[in-house]
Amino acid sequence: MILVTGATGYIGSHTWVELLNAGYKVLGIDNFCNSSRKVLDRVEKITGQKSQFIEGDMLDEKFLSSLFRNNPIESVIHFAGLKSVGESIKIPISHYQNNIHGLLNLLKVMQENQCNKFVFSSSATVYHPNNLIPYVEGMSLGSTNPYGWSKYMSEQILRDIEVADTSWSVAYLRYFNPIGAHESGLIGDDPKGVPNNLMPFITQVAVGRREYLSIFGDDWPTPDGTGIRDYIHVVDLARGHIKALDYLINQKQSLTINLGTGQGYSVLDLVKSFEKVSGKKIHYQIVERRPGDIAQFYANSQLAKKLLDWTVEYDVDRMCKDSWRWQLKNPNGFGE
Ligand code: NAD
Ligand code: UDP
Repeated sequence: MILVTGATGYIGSHTWVELLNAGYKVLGIDNFCNSSRKVLDRVEKITGQKSQFIEGDMLDEKFLSSLFRNNPIESVIHFAGLKSVGESIKIPISHYQNNIHGLLNLLKVMQENQCNKFVFSSSATVYHPNNLIPYVEGMSLGSTNPYGWSKYMSEQILRDIEVADTSWSVAYLRYFNPIGAHESGLIGDDPKGVPNNLMPFITQVAVGRREYLSIFGDDWPTPDGTGIRDYIHVVDLARGHIKALDYLINQKQSLTINLGTGQGYSVLDLVKSFEKVSGKKIHYQIVERRPGDIAQFYANSQLAKKLLDWTVEYDVDRMCKDSWRWQLKNPNGFGE
């Protein structure tokens, strides 16, 4: 049985679906601090399987202990955490508490139960912003905000555990920019309040929830002056987790890999692609650069291909199409 923490979140729910489709037995947990209960029905509807789920908090060690006592958990995919960079700057203590204390609780209980295969949601934000692009796994690490540091520290904690106890195998998955949604349009990204990320902002403009997109600067040193990122379809990302889990189970060793497409797209590229596939005009205004942003980054994704035989299936048009279907079918997201 695979324990999936943060199972009802954006990436967790898509990975849950892929795990069930691949025949894994899954136990999901979440405290719904950033997700909806409706995801549970939706996952069942997509997969045709009853989903096993228990509500609980990563900060509750007793809850985690009882989970391991009562279920034959062999490995863990850990998504649960807070992910807003802006919030992490405003309220660093609760951010660190959730992401670091939650992780430590989980690792302690895993160790007590001889469970030592762990897939970790890391991020491209662990790369020092001064690195050249594309980012390669061996490059120097660092961050500019508490969220990024929480991922950096989490990686370090896991590496220290691996040194102390060589029976552990850990997959450090450094995600680039997940967008898109399941093709059913039943699950997708549903940020609370004003979206921080580009794609949900675009879809909310398209569906009429927001008047226009603010583009954070058109004077970056990029071909069209807008920021460049490596957007990856969330289903491709989810499938990367299955491959990484299989690697831990079969190879019994750790790996650190980028999960990105290896291709950079600018804000205007994404807007154009979205307009093409949706037939909707995205009104935008150019505004000041967002503090903390960098001009561009994208992955070198060769190592994931080599170690896991993982490559992406979906292009940017498909990412936009699926994001749009999700938003159109659910104009107010899960409505919570
Ligand atoms: P999400 O917010 O949609 O999902 C996280 C889930 O964890 C939510 O359902 C939330 O309710 C749950 N959660 C948070 N704290 C919890 C706690 N203490 N106990 C139990 N459940 C808790 O985020 P996501 O986009 O699915 O991201 C999943 C993971 O991937 C996160 O760790 C995030 O930092 C990481 N990540 C995300 C991105 C991205 O762009 N979405 C990029 C890089 C890394
Ligand atoms: N962006 C933008 N307007 C928005 C949100 C994002 O112009 O409302 C830009 C942002 O400056 C960056 C790109 O879109 O160049 C991706 O931003 P996002 O927040 O989605 O990802 P991140 O910057 O965290 O990689």
